[in-house]
Amino acid sequence: MIQIKTPHEIELMRASGLVTAGAIAAVRAAVRPGVSTGELDAVAEDYIRSQGAVPNFLGYHGFTGTICASVNHEIVHGIPRPDRRLVEGDNISIDCGAILQGWHSDSAVTVTVGEPSAEDAALLDVTERSMWAGLAKAVAGGRLTDISHAVEGVITAESHPYGVVDHYGGHGIGTEMHQDPHVLNYGRPGRGPKLVPGLTLAIEPMVTVGDPATVELDDGWTVITKDGSRAAHFEHTVAITPEGPWVLTAEDGGAKGLAPFGITPRG
Ligand code: MG
Ligand code: MG
Repeated sequence: MIQIKTPHEIELMRASGLVTAGAIAAVRAAVRPGVSTGELDAVAEDYIRSQGAVPNFLGYHGFTGTICASVNHEIVHGIPRPDRRLVEGDNISIDCGAILQGWHSDSAVTVTVGEPSAEDAALLDVTERSMWAGLAKAVAGGRLTDISHAVEGVITAESHPYGVVDHYGGHGIGTEMHQDPHVLNYGRPGRGPKLVPGLTLAIEPMVTVGDPATVELDDGWTVITKDGSRAAHFEHTVAITPEGPWVLTAEDGGAKGLAPFGITPRG
């Protein structure tokens, strides 16, 4: 069932989204050679609790982290560990969420430890741009797969044959982290549920340098590329409002990312 939020509920989700934005910013600032993914997890948890919120990943189907920390060929759902230390040149996807006053938010970024190679810089750039193209389609009057199609279009427009990860994707979000509808990162436009004000979605492309086939590790969580190629993952929670998309997990409401699409969101 798709949960439609009132304007007041979207305000509450915005407050939750700002906690998640702050947690990701804090983790990002702590990324450096030698830091462990377990230490980064503690940074996120401390920040979220300092804001009177609760991590929504922790304990989710038994997950042991506040963040998912997915390094290099790990695509999503990497488990933070004290013995997993980052080195210069690693890419780490930091996926994080919070619950504030019962409302969930969910966001992810991929960052390079130190200076990225040209290949990594291009991978992160195309993945982030595909997310913004999807967010720009979170507009009342459209259909769900307009978002999917926009995400895919950015990725397939590149001269490098990036992989778009199958099956995994975005989702509705509200009083639960994962709600209907599922949002694939590919597909034909004009299909699926109508986009209406009050619908809130997490948009999260996952892109691989090589083949997008995935394997889940024996830990029951970590999803990696089968061919060992590197992957990137970006995510924001967005509300469809009568005035357009409002990116609840972006500090600026999405102003910078949506500007190329001629969209000025609420701050
Ligand atoms: Mg997430
Ligand atoms: Mg998500």
